[in-house]
Amino acid sequence: MKKPSELEEEYFARLEFEKRKKIEEEKQEKLAKEEKQRLKDLHYKKCPKCGMDLIEIDYKNIKVDKCSGCEGIWLDPGELEAVSNLEKTGLEKLFSVFKK
Ligand SMILES: [Zn+2]
Repeated sequence: MKKPSELEEEYFARLEFEKRKKIEEEKQEKLAKEEKQRLKDLHYKKCPKCGMDLIEIDYKNIKVDKCSGCEGIWLDPGELEAVSNLEKTGLEKLFSVFKK
């Protein structure tokens, strides 16, 4: 049988542990958020293939990003559908924006 004072010590030690664990978890959560933001800052408007800057053009409310390095063309969510709904002439006009 444990004495009541021992049980009390155990209880407070556990409380202390839980408290510190929570602080650590919050720290890690904050780090994960900061890392996410860091990656976003690092990659925002950069080509996913070659890392060069993307040039954004806005054509009929479709924002198309073209890479200044490898000339890849990138679309945001939903834009592939929007592009596919363009008439053929609209599509040609969109791509003529990029022609040299
Ligand atoms: Zn590129």
